[in-house]
Amino acid sequence: MVSHPPKDPCMTPEKEAFENHKLDKRLCREVGRAIVDFNMIEEGDRVMVCLSGGKDSYTMLDILLKMQQRAPVSFELIAVNLDQKQPGFPADVLPAYLSQLGVKFHIETQDTYSIVKQVIPEGKTMCSLCSRLRRGILYRVARELGCNKLALGHHRDDMLQTLFLNMFFGGKLKGMPPKLVSDNGEFVVIRPLAYVVEKDIVRWAQVQQYPIIPCTLCGSQENLQRKQVGDMLRDWDKRFPGRLENMLTALQNVVPSHLMDRQLYPFESIKATGVADDEGDKAFDEEPIAPPPRASGAPSVIPIAQPEATTGACS
Ligand code: SF4
Repeated sequence: MVSHPPKDPCMTPEKEAFENHKLDKRLCREVGRAIVDFNMIEEGDRVMVCLSGGKDSYTMLDILLKMQQRAPVSFELIAVNLDQKQPGFPADVLPAYLSQLGVKFHIETQDTYSIVKQVIPEGKTMCSLCSRLRRGILYRVARELGCNKLALGHHRDDMLQTLFLNMFFGGKLKGMPPKLVSDNGEFVVIRPLAYVVEKDIVRWAQVQQYPIIPCTLCGSQENLQRKQVGDMLRDWDKRFPGRLENMLTALQNVVPSHLMDRQLYPFESIKATGVADDEGDKAFDEEPIAPPPRASGAPSVIPIAQPEATTGACS
């Protein structure tokens, strides 16, 4: 199991309890906001909570259980872990944790590790076959358990990372959806941590002392592109506080007329209307960088003065 980073030695027990309470409230608020904004959970839902044994999925389960107590709708949660028989996987950790929590759970054991090892030549990346197999198994398990929704533990930083990975390496302006129908059309996939920042999850995992199972047991190489983008975002977060928050807000304020996708906006049929419209092209003026309207409790844009936050009017 992974050990947690040491606590701040300068913190008094009272201050620590206060900070932990604030963090708990923030996590619940952000998960609740995502659930409401995207209508993630409805009356009668049976949600399969996918648990890997990492900090994100432990936190998701924890907060969803709290939400279940407070929600105005009634829904079921079933925690599911897939034991892929990776070498050294501590098979007793999750059953012990989940039993003590008193939550319904199912551990599915399928040796996909051996299959992947047999099929993929040594040194090649195993992730695409591994995740395809895992997806198929988890869909079957969800079907057998009668679940209609699958909850995944991706958080805000995963969503931004995916956006940049798609832009840098995939030529697409595409992030990670907070809610979408699964590729087989059978389930609704939800990401209740969509608004939660990774730093909060790291701290919460430390507070809760979750029995973290390392994600490197398969021996697969780290995805270098993902690492690069992750490092870039962490660096921005340190140097330009508020930038990541603004990027997440930007994902919720898309202006198709100011992008270049001809499928999203009918550029070819544009004609002058003769009617003034503030949303129209400012032509010779610099495009103002204005905060977007505040929608359903979403944070407004955090002002950060940076030279690149303007468009070049003369170019
Ligand atoms: S990192 Fe390992 S367990 Fe995860 S998808 Fe890749 S091969 Fe599978």
